[in-house]
Amino acid sequence: MTTSTYAIAIGSNRRGRHGGPTSEVCAAIAALDGVWAVAPVIGSAPLGPSLRRYANTAVLLDSDLSPPQLLARLKAIERAFGRRRGRRWGSRVIDLDIVLWSRGCWSGPGLTVPHVAFRTRDFVLRPLARIAGGWRDPVSGRTVRQLHQLVDRARPRD
Ligand code: ATP
Ligand code: MG
Ligand code: MG
Repeated sequence: MTTSTYAIAIGSNRRGRHGGPTSEVCAAIAALDGVWAVAPVIGSAPLGPSLRRYANTAVLLDSDLSPPQLLARLKAIERAFGRRRGRRWGSRVIDLDIVLWSRGCWSGPGLTVPHVAFRTRDFVLRPLARIAGGWRDPVSGRTVRQLHQLVDRARPRD
């Protein structure tokens, strides 16, 4: 497959061998190939059962990999960072999700792109809007900036 661009959401709410969540996020960025834009790291309240706060950011990268190939690479990095299998949304050293792909949509076993939940997540849209505000979601037809404005208006301040 020839080169395409991906938007990746990165989150951590647990210490790992690199340090606290922000250090884990920065180490994950360094472990990714082809990164050409990095959003500021933000803090966000946890989603679901976990109590620890998150560090979140987003990056844009160019890759020759197909979406399932890239997901396999992201999961290998998650494992190398010591992420344990646990309940969804539990505490984790690192979470790497494919949010958008420059070729549009992908749907296969265990992988849906665009990410099914990103349109309502401030902690994904806020950083992503800083580096890819004009990227148009092929499903809703809205840009990242528009999606972020919609969730930002509804967001409880923390
Ligand atoms: P959420 O997907 O709601 O952010 P999560 O990131 O905590 O939750 P994980 O435990 O990291 O969930 O992943 C659960 C499964 O989601 C993965 O095994 C993966 O196969 C699948 N998945 C589906 N679509 C995507 C995507 N776009 N990016 C990453 N993983 C995805
Ligand atoms: Mg996730
Ligand atoms: Mg994930």
